[in-house]
Amino acid sequence: MKISTILATKGSNVVTIRPEQTLKEAATTLAQHNIGAVVVTDEAGQVVGIFSERDLARAVARYDDFLTRTVGEVMTRRVVCGTPQDDVMSVIETMTNRRFRHLPILDQGRLAGLVSIGDMVKAIMQDYQGTIETLHAQIIEG
Ligand code: AMP
Repeated sequence: MKISTILATKGSNVVTIRPEQTLKEAATTLAQHNIGAVVVTDEAGQVVGIFSERDLARAVARYDDFLTRTVGEVMTRRVVCGTPQDDVMSVIETMTNRRFRHLPILDQGRLAGLVSIGDMVKAIMQDYQGTIETLHAQIIEG
């Protein structure tokens, strides 16, 4: 299964934030959208970082004035991105090894979606369920 299969259901909308916004604004964005990470983009829409709940936890531990610190101060700058053509199983392996749960997807350099580990586990379970039902029907018919 490819990442494009997941995006076909989930859509290509990505919640983004700017590096100059505060952690208070970032936390509010995560809470409002009920998500665990936002992609950080510059004025041209280019990906310049990613900010997740874990970065928020680190900032809370490090700074007493964390609410007024900016996203740019604590985000991860070296973002690993995928493409719609990537294989879901190999993406899960990379994310598990590198210990992150969110992957922005770029199509020809432009943001085309974001998949989480949860999205991929859900898609694979549905795929397995479909295979089980097909095999079950074949056994019954055979
Ligand atoms: P997460 O597991 O996604 O909450 O993120 C754990 C840590 O990895 C945080 O410091 C994130 O900023 C960072 N992170 C999340 N996704 C990515 C990614 N695609 N590429 C690089 N770092 C990431």
